[in-house]
Amino acid sequence: MPNYEYRCESCEHRFEKRQAFGEEPITTCPECEGVLVRVIHPVPAIFKGGKPSAGKRTQKVGTRDVPIHQTEEGHWEQDRIMDQR
Ligand SMILES: [Zn+2]
Repeated sequence: MPNYEYRCESCEHRFEKRQAFGEEPITTCPECEGVLVRVIHPVPAIFKGGKPSAGKRTQKVGTRDVPIHQTEEGHWEQDRIMDQR
């Protein structure tokens, strides 16, 4: 099972959680109940000619394509999850 890294947007709390593929991501910070984002470790992608333009991609999570974006530090993070049910 992969280890996922989460970061809280409110208190910057970071932690890792082992989850099965396709398991629902955690969205609430255990410390302050703020909004969690999942830190996507960058896939070794080759960007020719410097920085990619305003990064927007999707990542397969279970059966859905979840939009991810690149942060200023260069991490890929899952976009805020809207209720899709
Ligand atoms: Zn928090």
